[in-house]
Amino acid sequence: MMVRRDPAGLGMTSQRARDRMVDTLRAGGIQNPRVLDVMRNLPRHLFVDEGLEVRAYENSPLPIGQGQTISQPYIVARMTELVLAANPKKVLEIGTGSGYQAAVLSQLVPQVFSVERIGSLLRNARRHFRSLGIENIRTRHDDGRRGWPEEAPFDAILMTAAGEYIDPLLAEQLAPGGVLIAPVGPQGGEQKLVRLTRDADGLHESVLEAVSFVPLLGGVL
Ligand code: SAH
Repeated sequence: MMVRRDPAGLGMTSQRARDRMVDTLRAGGIQNPRVLDVMRNLPRHLFVDEGLEVRAYENSPLPIGQGQTISQPYIVARMTELVLAANPKKVLEIGTGSGYQAAVLSQLVPQVFSVERIGSLLRNARRHFRSLGIENIRTRHDDGRRGWPEEAPFDAILMTAAGEYIDPLLAEQLAPGGVLIAPVGPQGGEQKLVRLTRDADGLHESVLEAVSFVPLLGGVL
């Protein structure tokens, strides 16, 4: 029988490429073994555009059409690690994009909700979820700046597009003990990853590392 050792045209098995990607993540400071395990097994090359599969396991963002990008593996790992600290049962993502970040979360959290404003991207993402047999992600085609109030509260919220501030209506959808992770910064300017946590005294903000995300935009396409 013929075995396709290199289905993605990576020049090596995609498993080998993912092992190398995980080595890079670990060297970059990602420690959570559950996150590393999921990323070692999830085929990122299925989430990138045709022709870019050969670059799927580089530690870089890649175009997914409509001027958008699939986030860099490091930032997916980092945000997932930060989200898992809240031991979440229910997570909301704003900016489904390719669906890769949501797919990573789906292996670690019982329920994932994800909102995307660009219909064609969302259709592709749903197709990827189906082809991988992922059934615990619910998606919504909408402007996600105000979250998903009907499903709130969430134990964790992550934004994968950068706004100039965190909308208070979004922060309100955070459950007690919950965590919100978002890139914040002016359009075209410097962005910082911000973490909001909610406890009995209210919301607490901490500023983490410098990041570079596509902008959070209004309206639906
Ligand atoms: N998490 C994605 C990253 C995609 S890039 C991945 O793993 O591939 C960020 C995405 O946010 C883009 O697809 C963009 O269309 C989307 N986006 C930007 N503003 C938005 C908004 N207001 N509501 C929902 N999605 C938004």
